[in-house]
Amino acid sequence: MVKETTYYDILGVKPNCTTDELKKAYRKLALKYHPDKNPNEGEKFKMISQAYEVLSTPEKRQIYDEGGEQALKEGGINMNNFSSPMDIFDMFFGGLGGGRGGGRRRERRGKNVVHPLLVTLDELYNGSVRKQKIQKNIICDRCEGRGGKKGASQTCQDCGGSGLQVQVQQFAAGVIHQIQTVCRECKGEGECIKPQDRCKKCNGKKTIHEEKIIEVQIDKGMADGQKIVFSGEGNQEPGLEPGDIMFVLEEKEHSLFKRSGSDLVMLMNLELVEALCGFQKVIHTLDNRDLVITAIPGEVTRHKDLKCVMGEGMPTYKNPFEKGRLIIQFTVSFPTKINPEIIPQLEACLPPRVEQIVPDNAEEVEMIEVDSEEESRRRERAHQYEEMGAPGSNRVQCATQ
Ligand SMILES: [Zn+2]
Ligand SMILES: [Zn+2]
Repeated sequence: MVKETTYYDILGVKPNCTTDELKKAYRKLALKYHPDKNPNEGEKFKMISQAYEVLSTPEKRQIYDEGGEQALKEGGINMNNFSSPMDIFDMFFGGLGGGRGGGRRRERRGKNVVHPLLVTLDELYNGSVRKQKIQKNIICDRCEGRGGKKGASQTCQDCGGSGLQVQVQQFAAGVIHQIQTVCRECKGEGECIKPQDRCKKCNGKKTIHEEKIIEVQIDKGMADGQKIVFSGEGNQEPGLEPGDIMFVLEEKEHSLFKRSGSDLVMLMNLELVEALCGFQKVIHTLDNRDLVITAIPGEVTRHKDLKCVMGEGMPTYKNPFEKGRLIIQFTVSFPTKINPEIIPQLEACLPPRVEQIVPDNAEEVEMIEVDSEEESRRRERAHQYEEMGAPGSNRVQCATQ
């Protein structure tokens, strides 16, 4: 039982979630609320990052689970002292630092752009090519990124080339305050181009906007969360090495199959007659083939039985001819009523009953239905009560057995 669930709620996960679930939740939300996509959701992006930072660090998560946010503060974790949301994002997506220097920005490199890419299980099974339209800034080809003719660039007169302007404010007699602001004239670049010398194509901005279609190759066997990187396809800026464009795969849920590593798992419901007397069923595969599975008469399939077909699971990434298993989880539908007249016939076909000896003084009692939903809610409450160290937990244990 955790003390607070705020951080879990922010990420939309349960307090008992695994590290994988945590990562998945962060990945989804961080991509959605990244300032590049959602400039007005800065606060939300920050909250997501903070929650992830705490919950993804085992020691911090333990402190938080036991004592909530207050305990983190008391444990010396200053709430203003979180890593920057951007650093967490970059580190998570293996971004700008390229793994070096603990995720710090490499100085002369533009930033990476990360896009989620929603894919179906069919695409991950069969492979596919997705055309994606991207928008980016590229160096203006007419002026080669100078913004004007050669030598047209002059030191900004407003700031003397520093890119900064110093404003002096006098508060009271003798109290002078200096404020530095980015030079408005040159926007901090320290250089200006006279309007008449500006490149006509980019209007002196040195870069132009470009829309481009790129083909994203989804290979057979790729997985949810896998990154496809287009090196150097990020925004171009004069003097900077361009960053990367990255697509992070997000697997859409499939109506029939669930992926589990290299296996595919599916549910199959049988009628009681099929479970007892055998059956033949058709399974339509992700690559449009039909498989027939058979349980021969005499073979009984029980409720919750697991069976598998080798080589009909997911293809292995980089080795697509190697495939996992198709695991079939059977459920059996029982009839709710049977005509009493046929019971003798039915009994004659089934294994005999175990004979029951009823003691003379046994009491006759009545069974009634239990509402299973209500029951699970009740167990949940009892479980919480028990975790709080309540007296009488023996009673609770009995109830849950
Ligand atoms: Zn230009
Ligand atoms: Zn200036």
